[in-house]
Amino acid sequence: ARVDNPYDGAKVYVNPEWSANAAAEPGGNRIANEPTGVWLDRTAAIEGVNGGMSLRDHLDAALEQKGSGEMVVQLVIYNLPGRDCSALASNGELGPTEIDRYKTEYIDPIKEILGDSKYASLRIVTTVEIDSLPNLVTNTGSRPTAVPACDTMKANGNYVKGVGYALAQLGDVPNVYNYIDAGHHGWIGWDDNFGASADVIKQAATAEGATVGDVHGFITNTANYSALKEENFGIDDSVNGTSVRQSKWVDWNRYVDELSFAQAFRNELVSKGFDSGIGMLIDTSRNGWGGSARPAGPGPQTSVDAYVDGGRFDRRIHPGNWCNQSGAGLGERPQASPAAGIDAYVWMKPPGESDGASKAIDNDEGKGFDRMCDPTYEGNARNGNSPSGALPDAPISGKWFSAQFQELMKNAYPPL
Ligand code: BGC
Repeated sequence: ARVDNPYDGAKVYVNPEWSANAAAEPGGNRIANEPTGVWLDRTAAIEGVNGGMSLRDHLDAALEQKGSGEMVVQLVIYNLPGRDCSALASNGELGPTEIDRYKTEYIDPIKEILGDSKYASLRIVTTVEIDSLPNLVTNTGSRPTAVPACDTMKANGNYVKGVGYALAQLGDVPNVYNYIDAGHHGWIGWDDNFGASADVIKQAATAEGATVGDVHGFITNTANYSALKEENFGIDDSVNGTSVRQSKWVDWNRYVDELSFAQAFRNELVSKGFDSGIGMLIDTSRNGWGGSARPAGPGPQTSVDAYVDGGRFDRRIHPGNWCNQSGAGLGERPQASPAAGIDAYVWMKPPGESDGASKAIDNDEGKGFDRMCDPTYEGNARNGNSPSGALPDAPISGKWFSAQFQELMKNAYPPL
């Protein structure tokens, strides 16, 4: 039977491939033994890409690391048809209509491997389809942020079907713990997006044979940079009678950080019919925002913008920026049960792996060039028409980006 929180009392698998990349960096041995997510980001990843480890290799290595204790393995299920419809940097190998290939060539083989009795003693956490379902709410229809590729995925239903199928199939394996991706506060924390995103998630969790019983929890902030806890201002603060919700940075959002958002979204999901025992994961791999520019205290009360901007830890130009953010640092180290409703802080995005290329680079993975990764880009409706804030000279998404890794260590909070 599944335990309530798989992370409680368990070690978490250290991916030897990421660990070797980290250890090869000056200073990297300080974090090379941290657990990170294993991304099954294309069908070939199941058997191993370019001589790299296969899914079975990872599970075998996890059994070795396990010894006689409990062991969590963190997998990222990430190969939907028409993947990453609102961005180009992580477009995938499957076209918008290729739902059958997703099922038979990707999910079914993963299920077969995870169901091997050899692996029955592992606690296998699957985080399901990052950055997919909320796009159907926020980037479709008459919204100013709409993009045609997301309208397509809403109309053909293949995100909903794909997530439902993944949950139903993987949920059949008794030692798999499914966690669905739930965006982050700077995306679905607004009233227009919050309940509607929970609705579409519920729809997916009851599609293609899935039930809410297949869902153990949710993950927020995957591969994003939203601060865990803003300590210098709160959503209920006001300055000279003006609410922080009216500041340019918060812009009427209902949440200012990931912890408050994750806890509130958990309650929302329970109210929509998910189990009251669901737990949240928060990806803290790159949301530390330490280093010399970290504010030491609240901003001045001269205006609501001065107050928020002077005090906020998250120093992005705009919370809609998501690619290789300049100034970011490693966040909280992975840990179990850090706060009410939270199963764990995790490093699902492996620090040092790029979010996307700064310029167009040919590749055979289906990945496009998204100008949100170009440091000279001036933005679009999804980031308030702001500069991208991206680091220069980045390789395509998923590839090792040494300069970013060094910056993340330098700006770690808690510091290394
Ligand atoms: C990429 C994947 C990669 C993952 C982890 C994503 O943005 O699209 O290919 O595995 O990041 O670095």
